[in-house]
Amino acid sequence: MTSYDLDVDILISEIMKRKARRILIQLPDGLKTQAIELSKTIEGKTSSEVFLSSGACYGGCDVAVDQARLLHADLIVHYGHSRFVAINDPQIVFLDAKAKLDLIPILKKAENELSNWTKIGLSTTIQHLNELEIVKEYLSTLGKKVTITPKTESITHSGQIIGCDYTPLKAIDGEIEVFLIIGSKFHGLGASIATKKPVILADPYANEVVNMARMKNITVLQRYAAIDKARHAQKFAVILGTKPGQYDLKEATRLKKMLTAKGKTASIIVADEIRPDSLENFTDVQAFINTACPRIAVDDAERLTKPILLPREALVAIGELTWENILDQGLL
Ligand code: SF4
Repeated sequence: MTSYDLDVDILISEIMKRKARRILIQLPDGLKTQAIELSKTIEGKTSSEVFLSSGACYGGCDVAVDQARLLHADLIVHYGHSRFVAINDPQIVFLDAKAKLDLIPILKKAENELSNWTKIGLSTTIQHLNELEIVKEYLSTLGKKVTITPKTESITHSGQIIGCDYTPLKAIDGEIEVFLIIGSKFHGLGASIATKKPVILADPYANEVVNMARMKNITVLQRYAAIDKARHAQKFAVILGTKPGQYDLKEATRLKKMLTAKGKTASIIVADEIRPDSLENFTDVQAFINTACPRIAVDDAERLTKPILLPREALVAIGELTWENILDQGLL
């Protein structure tokens, strides 16, 4: 099992500096194995009281502000993701969790898949950023010219990939021939549908290397089929997510107005966790439009009997945008 460096010393100094008394710690599911030990260490070395959130902690968007409010916590410690652009609360500390994992074996495995290309765009999840220069150096010894994706307005670190914002990849799309993504299929698929270049995924946990072309083609066809189905829908529901980094009331209201102007019936559904089984209870809805995490429409579509669209896809369904526009800009 991979273990992670939780930067405990940094956390302790943050707690001391802020004189925090009550702390809520959020860890993604894969890091919860280290939660009890972490809690014990923090309570042993500071005078603060620690609470552990059981929430899934999906991304930097998913900060447990409601739990913290109930607990009267004066500090939220969010592990494993970088600060999300939409959240700017000084009471939240975002801390990396660096994986203690050697990436060279998976790079060796990827050599064959990368053999047709020289110019590589390189990106990985926050857990492996500290290894990225080593990866670059290794690829250089194979004669590759490697460009690490830049940081952008919305992405905090250079080389970092997240599931819903591919601006760093799009920024270097014109200079490279192929993207090498070190991470999971979630990130590999996102990169492949967001950019025009081929994507090779090197997944060090599953120990597999995948050319994402096939999955991309399947996903593009599925997205088109969902839009096509929604063209014939009369009753729409626009989903408004309440996770702090996903909440977009303005966009939900705008979409509702546009649908109404086109003679459709539209309501807004408010949800924290957007689960296909709970959406299925809205039996008279014929198509959903999700303004929250865009990956739900892409990754969970098959778990719903009704189409679930991204906002831009909804505009295609009502004739305000073309499918070609979407393909041109990338699905994400
Ligand atoms: S919105 Fe979705 S993809 Fe983006 S950080 Fe949150 S959970 Fe991840």
